[in-house]
Amino acid sequence: MSACDPKRTLAEPTRPLGQEVAVQVQFWGTRGSIPKPGPTTIHYGGNTLCHEIRTARGTLVIIDCGTGLHGLGLKLLSGGGRSLAGHILISHTHWDHIQGVPFFAPFFVPGNKWDIYGPKGLNQSLRDTLAGQMQHTYFPITPDEFGASIRYHDLLEGTFEIDDIKVTTQYLNHPALTLGYRLEADGATVVYCCDHEPFSRDVAEGHREFFGLDQQHADFIEGADLLIHDAQYTAAEYPSKAGWGHSSIEFVVKLAQHTKAKHVVLTHHDPLRTDEALDGIVEKVRDGLKANHSTVLVSAATEGEVIDVKSSSAHVSRSSREDFSAMTTVKPALSHRSVLIKVADVKLATAIGEAVLAEGLRANFCSSADMARKLIEQDPPSLAIIDNTVAHDNETAVLEVLRSTKGGELPVVMVAAREHEEEGVTDWLTTPFTESYARTKIRAWVLRESCRWIRAAIPENEPARLTSLRALDLLDTEPEERFDRITRVATALFNVPMATITLVDERRQWFKSCQGTAGREDPRDASFCAHVVSQREPMIVVDTLSDGRFADNPLVLGGPRIRFYAGHPLTLDDGSCIGTLCLLDTRPHTFKDSDLEQLRDLALIVMEQFQALRIERAKQSRQF
Ligand SMILES: [Zn+2]
Ligand SMILES: [Zn+2]
Repeated sequence: MSACDPKRTLAEPTRPLGQEVAVQVQFWGTRGSIPKPGPTTIHYGGNTLCHEIRTARGTLVIIDCGTGLHGLGLKLLSGGGRSLAGHILISHTHWDHIQGVPFFAPFFVPGNKWDIYGPKGLNQSLRDTLAGQMQHTYFPITPDEFGASIRYHDLLEGTFEIDDIKVTTQYLNHPALTLGYRLEADGATVVYCCDHEPFSRDVAEGHREFFGLDQQHADFIEGADLLIHDAQYTAAEYPSKAGWGHSSIEFVVKLAQHTKAKHVVLTHHDPLRTDEALDGIVEKVRDGLKANHSTVLVSAATEGEVIDVKSSSAHVSRSSREDFSAMTTVKPALSHRSVLIKVADVKLATAIGEAVLAEGLRANFCSSADMARKLIEQDPPSLAIIDNTVAHDNETAVLEVLRSTKGGELPVVMVAAREHEEEGVTDWLTTPFTESYARTKIRAWVLRESCRWIRAAIPENEPARLTSLRALDLLDTEPEERFDRITRVATALFNVPMATITLVDERRQWFKSCQGTAGREDPRDASFCAHVVSQREPMIVVDTLSDGRFADNPLVLGGPRIRFYAGHPLTLDDGSCIGTLCLLDTRPHTFKDSDLEQLRDLALIVMEQFQALRIERAKQSRQF
């Protein structure tokens, strides 16, 4: 998918980019929550978040569309306004990040071209969400009446390119589905994280060092030349605002030091924070850093301010767009909406159950590993909430079951009085908690999970199917020429680099024969072939990146980077579908009906081999 257009004329940057400047950032809005114009916010500004970013090569990116977008739109039009093109990255769709959209004048000019990117939502696309605030009740014009041509891109976590900028996205911790953006161009790195609250309360309040998800957040920021970060509260204010999805200034300064960011800009200023208060805060922070001989530069975002970012590293060669993409163009796939709860304390379990129900989700309670396994099969959860008794008694088995669910990617939130390191635990819900705090945590995790790839359903005849598969005695045997011959022919015939004969076992897919792939097995959760086995019909995916079931599947985003899949079921004469003959490519493909017929012919040859083997095995067992 190409995100670029031929270069078009743009209104000039506020000041020309100097020779060494790789990226220029201008702040058009710095306020969080609600616009706050007035005598107490004259210096730092009253508009909600909006940033103009330009590269030396002229690419224009706007990050977030708070009310500051209005002023930026007028400036862009002052350059004539015709044939403008640019890219807009939206962190999330809370009001203070999108309220400027209906008032962005360049949207109304025919001939302008804009690309808008934002996190893929749960129930509706980015376009529909933005259109929601332009319903006639609120606004006289709908997005259909914009004169400019606008393309919408729903994003997941990953990396993609906008002209000369490499953009990496990562989910932040906020009650709405929110993405942080890391922009790299010409050796300069700008990272934007709004809105975000540390995952661990202990890390948020400075009681412990970065670990787990907070370290992952730090890794995302590592080495930024310019870090623009949510810092709505002070450390003193934070405890009464925990769970609202924002960071304290003290946390952000520590984060900047920890990640070796060169310059950190505190933003998302609280609407009640006056210029005087912000001046005082910045001065205090700088004094503290000076006393510690820290070199990190700290400032508070100021409306109208322009920051030039120079290259700090040699120009790194960028991955090709085909290589890796975070974009999906499909309708969000609404997958699993249940939460598995294993909490012994009845009062706590009830409170959590109520919070889950209040979020419109299903709560499934379990008390043992066996029960957990059954529930996971019947109603695959998006999230598990457990208490810390599992760490002490025989119930460690529950954690093991959860760890093996979704290839280890099921988020597990542990309820405990204190956070402590525990393998397999993703996040913490520390007691005592309010209902709204629990709901925030639950919502954030379920939203994130529900947008993810879909696992194949377990076939109804699973026990009989597995018995037939195992009776063949093929699993974990050496490769055999009679099968390799077929996959070799398949790669040549269909002009694909990879073909496999896959057997779908209880928890894995295992390759009896594989051409062009390195490994011999994958977790069943990620398996494409498991879908074929479940449907008992051929499955063709011409481009995984535009298929909501697979766009962020680990075998798509990571090795072997599947873009094309065609699988034909392999069924025994007792009716058990045990695997597939499949074709894979790292590029999208078309697949005609005649291709499918040829694939069927090859699959029939494999099935004949399996059938002969079945008869042989049956004879052997009679002999003994
Ligand atoms: Zn906000
Ligand atoms: Zn927000």
